[in-house]
Amino acid sequence: MTIGFDLDGIICDINIFELVLSEKLSFVESYYYKERKPLLNPYMFLTNDDDFIIITAREKRLSSITKQWIDKFLPGAKWFIVDTGYNEDPRETAEKKLKILLREKVEVYFDDNPDIIKELRKKCNTIKFIQFGGRL
Ligand SMILES: [Mg+2]
Repeated sequence: MTIGFDLDGIICDINIFELVLSEKLSFVESYYYKERKPLLNPYMFLTNDDDFIIITAREKRLSSITKQWIDKFLPGAKWFIVDTGYNEDPRETAEKKLKILLREKVEVYFDDNPDIIKELRKKCNTIKFIQFGGRL
């Protein structure tokens, strides 16, 4: 079985206040992403036969910083960036994430954003979508 994980708020921690600030002040943006702390270890969810992928809706320009972080904490992990942005309509983000989830034959997917979970559940009933985290 392949399990899918969102990155921000699932694999690494998130700080909404700092994130919004970093979007306004571009010089602190790379600091924000470099300093994320691991939150969930995906390997804790896997049996020896399972696999995992990471899907993030970070903007594409954050690819190299994202790669550095994943290489450091989860070397060799398979990951995808859907190039949206934090403020994109959750319906569009869900649509883009779903394409990858279906292509990669993911059976369970974790995301911290309840709007994205809601949209994914509307669009697909073959994958189990689970919200993690305390977001409202
Ligand atoms: Mg997230």
